[in-house]
Amino acid sequence: MQKIEKLYEGKAKSLYSTENPDLLIQYFKDEATAFDGKKKGIIEQKGVLNNKISSRIFKYLEERGVKTHFVEMLSDREMLVKKLRIIPIEVVVRNIAAGSLSKRMGVEEGGRLKETIIEFYYKSDPLGDPMINEYHIKVFGLAEKEELAQMEASALKINKILSEFFDERGIILVDFKLEFGNHKGEILLGDEITPDGCRLWDKETKEKMDKDRFRRDLGKVEEAYQEVLKKVME
Ligand code: ADP
Ligand code: UDP
Repeated sequence: MQKIEKLYEGKAKSLYSTENPDLLIQYFKDEATAFDGKKKGIIEQKGVLNNKISSRIFKYLEERGVKTHFVEMLSDREMLVKKLRIIPIEVVVRNIAAGSLSKRMGVEEGGRLKETIIEFYYKSDPLGDPMINEYHIKVFGLAEKEELAQMEASALKINKILSEFFDERGIILVDFKLEFGNHKGEILLGDEITPDGCRLWDKETKEKMDKDRFRRDLGKVEEAYQEVLKKVME
């Protein structure tokens, strides 16, 4: 399957049409951004690493009954996916306090939450992805009630599967972001699951193995992504 026309150029990936109108090619780039695009940089080999990490995780999820857009990995930087009408909601799942939750609630990073927290953000770069709730989603027509219920159930199932998956590999799944979309009337998991959109900490040392190394200038960013790839392939 070949790329035909570039349909979208995002911050970390580009989307291309293919000869099949139902399928797209996701091309993974090395560009990294943080703080609503205010911080920009390159993480060497990130595109290749994220394509491989995401392919492995999506395949693993599919095998366990999660419906995703993943079709196959085509090359080092290209993944064939089902074309989605993306629902403009970022679903964040949290097991441990970190990042914006720690800031908002005034709690230290690292504490395990009594229960999993799910949050919704309105996917809008110009607005800086504001946090929203079920009422906003309903009133502004971002998703149907049934779609939201499916996304929530899927997010919790994914959290259960991936928390165990990473735990078996010596990694704590702290939090992560998901995107869903509609494909021929079905809600599928889309986008990517990579250290760009997950917080992953080494179980023993608590060392960060994700994009926080880039956000917070901690160094050894590529090395951390390499290590995640090695672990997820085990
Ligand atoms: P951003 O748009 O935030 O810069 P990316 O660089 O990751 O993010 O671009 C990928 C874009 O492709 C995102 O907007 C995402 O919602 C969208 N996307 C992901 N998977 C699919 C899919 N299967 N079909 C259509 N769009 C998708
Ligand atoms: N996240 C993401 N894209 C976003 C916002 C958050 O992938 O636009 C991920 C982030 O990597 C982390 C989780 O969602 O794993 C929770 O992020 P948080 O709300 O703490 O925001 P941050 O402080 O990272 O901006």
